[in-house]
Amino acid sequence: MSGLYDQQNIFAKILRGDIPCNKVDECDHTLSFYDIQPQRKVHILVIPKGAYTDMTDFCTNASAEEQTAYFAAIARVVGIAGLEKSGYRLIANTGTDGHQDVPHLHIHILGGEAVGPMLHRKA
Ligand code: 5GP
Repeated sequence: MSGLYDQQNIFAKILRGDIPCNKVDECDHTLSFYDIQPQRKVHILVIPKGAYTDMTDFCTNASAEEQTAYFAAIARVVGIAGLEKSGYRLIANTGTDGHQDVPHLHIHILGGEAVGPMLHRKA
């Protein structure tokens, strides 16, 4: 796990139960909950319970069991949200250029309606 992990980030607080979340799914290694500011009709965040700052940290340092559980959780949540047939988008904002606000790995699951082009064109 990264030595730079901030134990006070908002998702660490959710994992500790210090602040509530609207839970969708949970297993030994993951927690999934609705985003507080949904950007599409369905907007769910999937996070590992381990203290990983981002995808690079997770892919480098998480155990095989944690990694398997994480991707299984994403598939499970897609099913719970009923997005398999209509489709969805996964986003993992990472670092400064990736515009990551919360420094605990999270994958956004967006769907329930057309989510639009991947990126806006630069002017
Ligand atoms: P990022 O920009 O880091 O990829 O995304 C962070 C996401 O966390 C944002 O979509 C934001 O709305 C969400 N978020 C921030 N604080 C909270 C919170 O306290 N509860 C929940 N459920 N989502 C949050």
